[in-house]
Amino acid sequence: MWSLAVVWISSLLVSAQAQGTASFWKGNDRSGRCQYSFTVDSPKEASCPSAGTGPEMEALKSRLGLLEVLVARLAGGEAPGTVAGAGLKEAYSQAMREKTQLQREKDRLGQQVNELQLRVTELQKEAERLRSRPCPQVPSPSVPQHDSGLRPGTDPSWQYSSLGYQELKAEVAEVPASSPEATEDNTGCGELLSVGEPVSHRKADNIGGRYGVWMQDPEPVTPYDTGMVWRIDTVGSDVRQLFGYENMEQLSRGFPTKVLLLPEAVESTGATMYRGSLYYQRRRSRTLIRYDLASESVAARRDLPHAGFHGQFPYSWGGYTDIDFAVDEEGLWVIYSTNKAKGAIVLSQLDPHSLEVKRSWETNIRKTTVANAFVICGRLYTVASYTSPNTTVNYSFDTTNSQSKAISVPFKNRHRYNSMIDYNPVQRKLFAWDNYHIVSYDVRLGKQQ
Ligand code: CA
Repeated sequence: MWSLAVVWISSLLVSAQAQGTASFWKGNDRSGRCQYSFTVDSPKEASCPSAGTGPEMEALKSRLGLLEVLVARLAGGEAPGTVAGAGLKEAYSQAMREKTQLQREKDRLGQQVNELQLRVTELQKEAERLRSRPCPQVPSPSVPQHDSGLRPGTDPSWQYSSLGYQELKAEVAEVPASSPEATEDNTGCGELLSVGEPVSHRKADNIGGRYGVWMQDPEPVTPYDTGMVWRIDTVGSDVRQLFGYENMEQLSRGFPTKVLLLPEAVESTGATMYRGSLYYQRRRSRTLIRYDLASESVAARRDLPHAGFHGQFPYSWGGYTDIDFAVDEEGLWVIYSTNKAKGAIVLSQLDPHSLEVKRSWETNIRKTTVANAFVICGRLYTVASYTSPNTTVNYSFDTTNSQSKAISVPFKNRHRYNSMIDYNPVQRKLFAWDNYHIVSYDVRLGKQQ
């Protein structure tokens, strides 16, 4: 504070108005003369709270009152001044929990945006590729040149039909029907003698199809038949879509006729199709699920006893391939491992209706050292590498006598990232998913023993 003589009063009044706090009094000085004094906050002191009942104090009181009301509300309506600290703490924790939840949701949406951007990029590339493709210059056999009087490249409609023919021809070339010649000398159920060249049926058109599983039911149930092809793209953490294609040609063209949303998420690439049901491992669990296609609902579920899951005993490429279903001439199987087996492959035959284990065999090959496995005629086979373009089927285990042996049947991973290999006993082929490519291999078996 500072004081000024009365002669400065007029100028101080202006200053006091500016500061907003001032006082004025009169009294006698030592000499007995009357003295008028005026007191005002200095510019610096004006920001300090003053004792007493100034407007700052009133404002502070008012703010305190508001805060008390707020605290009372947060604590659940208690009267101001009686709010328990615990109530406020709880309100704060709740707010923090909501904040964390919102953050998670934001992260999840961010992830989806990234995935969609990747997909958009892929589609743009594909569109560019299609735009840059030259028009075919080969005359269509259905429109002989001397009859039409047109030279290739002169008539847009002619070019269009020729393009259609080219594409159709490519599809036919890529999707050879299962010919009787391929299996006529292959009716036995003996050992695996050889695996043919991989035939590519379809390349997945986006990042979601880098790996997955495709299947045909060897014993389908109405309304589906043996031609129906099923596919699950398994990239992602919440895999639920099952695509159905009327036949191999529709698969190649990428036109599904059925899309089912599974009630429980799928783990990895081990699913199979058998007797009108999809069999799969539920995500992050050892629970086996039988999903009935006709009723489009779960018909059975059961834990596979002691089975490792979610990265405990996967195949060598990882991908949570701990539990792998298989179908052969003898029924439904599941390939996995347990702590008791110390990571060695355990093969169990399942009751396809109830999913109960009927019988189990413990092999002497470690599951994590092989790329994949399948069962043909009651024999388990493993493939050595999922990346090597020239690898081998390197091991077999016969359930009839529990004998295992090292073998060396050449096997090709043409696209160098094989995430699924299964046998189809009706087609007598191996089905595989090799780095976006849906492929199949003919197999040759020995005579029945
Ligand atoms: Ca398999």
